[in-house]
Amino acid sequence: MTASLFAPGYQDMPYWWEAAPRPATSDESPPGQADIVIVGSGYTGLSAALVAARAGRDVLVLDAEAAGWGCSSRNGGQVSTSIKPGYADLAKRHGPERAFAIRREGMTALDWIGDFIRTEGIDCDWEVVGRFHAAHNPVQYETLAKDVANQPKGLEIPAHMVPRAEQHSEIGSDYYHGGVVYPRHAALDPAKYHLGLLERARAAGARVIGHCPVTAIERGGGGFTVATPRGSVAARNVAICTNGYTGTVTPWQRRRVIPIGSYIIATEELPTELTSRLSPKNRVMSDTRKLIFYYRLSPDRRRVLFGGRVAYKETDPRVSAPRLHDWMSLIFPELREVRITHSWVGFVAYTFDTLPHLGQQDGLYYAMGYCGSGVSLASYFGWRLGHKIVGSAEGKTALDGLDFQTRPFYTGNPWFLAASIAYYKWRDKRNV
Ligand SMILES: Cc1cc2nc3c(=O)[nH]c(=O)nc-3n(C[C@H](O)[C@H](O)[C@H](O)COP(=O)(O)OP(=O)(O)OC[C@H]3O[C@@H](n4cnc5c(N)ncnc54)[C@H](O)[C@@H]3O)c2cc1C
Repeated sequence: MTASLFAPGYQDMPYWWEAAPRPATSDESPPGQADIVIVGSGYTGLSAALVAARAGRDVLVLDAEAAGWGCSSRNGGQVSTSIKPGYADLAKRHGPERAFAIRREGMTALDWIGDFIRTEGIDCDWEVVGRFHAAHNPVQYETLAKDVANQPKGLEIPAHMVPRAEQHSEIGSDYYHGGVVYPRHAALDPAKYHLGLLERARAAGARVIGHCPVTAIERGGGGFTVATPRGSVAARNVAICTNGYTGTVTPWQRRRVIPIGSYIIATEELPTELTSRLSPKNRVMSDTRKLIFYYRLSPDRRRVLFGGRVAYKETDPRVSAPRLHDWMSLIFPELREVRITHSWVGFVAYTFDTLPHLGQQDGLYYAMGYCGSGVSLASYFGWRLGHKIVGSAEGKTALDGLDFQTRPFYTGNPWFLAASIAYYKWRDKRNV
């Protein structure tokens, strides 16, 4: 790799942390008692905390790192309907009614997060910019066109096709074979959004303590004892909101999520004439590869943020950076000589049925498994989880009671990942 690819002052850190740094470390000890302890302070944990604190519960949120250190301040800030499996696939697995309801949850989540940000007045560069989802080959273009033309009744989302000959109206690239526009998808600054949530959860009375890992959870006395290196907390309820960072403290959940690293780079500042050529409508963008690339401009439209999975095994952001740069330059040749200022990684959580899961297991509440699309889903299902914990009807979801699958011999270390990535890479190359 060439050292000149990295701009002076380059950092292995999310670009977002420049404008929204992670909260400073404190040596605050947790109180001995709380109504609810929430493990994990990302969107899931804080949304649940906000609901519970506003319902009058004494809520404590603990994070092993700084608040929001996980995916919730590292993601691409692309907001969509996010339920991965299509209606036909879900109908085969769960019947038409359930399939319909599950797909609707994704649509509701997208509406919900826009309303939530507006109602709460969270300053996070929220903008309904729409998505351009590009076809990486002609077969995929035809598949997208068929999907748009045959949307199940009642589950239609606004979408229109853009053929290759017209794609320069959407993207300054000849790399793709046209694509589809979803005008309702949105963009935000993920770390500012997280800080807004944090502020509101604290204002509602929740205590959020960072750098305080939960090391054990024991049941007893009609509740739980949650151990940390800074003391134990007795709680009536505990919620596990650790998603791609779920550890050995909760082995049941750990066996059910597959942590996968997603990698992003940010370019140095670029002239706006260039960025508006690359992204004339400032859309969020992604493509039809199994190993998807997702990219967008920064909210000030001065940089390109380009993400994807570019490693068989997890690697260092300095190793992933030049690989992402190569792909970015293939799509946008104009960026070949542009340098990188930030490169980072975060761990998303896949599940064996590619659906999120939430509920209660052995008394512990949990919500996780957003399969790489959790900006709307983590916030929305965290909010639902909060309602479940306080016993309100709004806690009900179409995902309730679904089997949260694992596989024999899987304990949380995805030994099969490199082989799966190699297979998907092969499929993407074969143009299927
Ligand atoms: C690079 C990248 C790009 C992404 N891009 C997008 C995107 O554009 N759009 C989209 O919709 N989604 C995207 N995602 C996914 C999205 O960010 C996540 O799905 C979402 O943020 C999950 O939120 P969460 O609160 O469930 O988990 P997280 O935000 O990951 O929080 C989990 C927290 O649990 C804490 N924790 C773990 N164990 C313990 C313990 N024992 N004690 C205390 N704390 C613990 C961790 O420290 C962590 O802070 C992306 C993710 C990544 C990594």
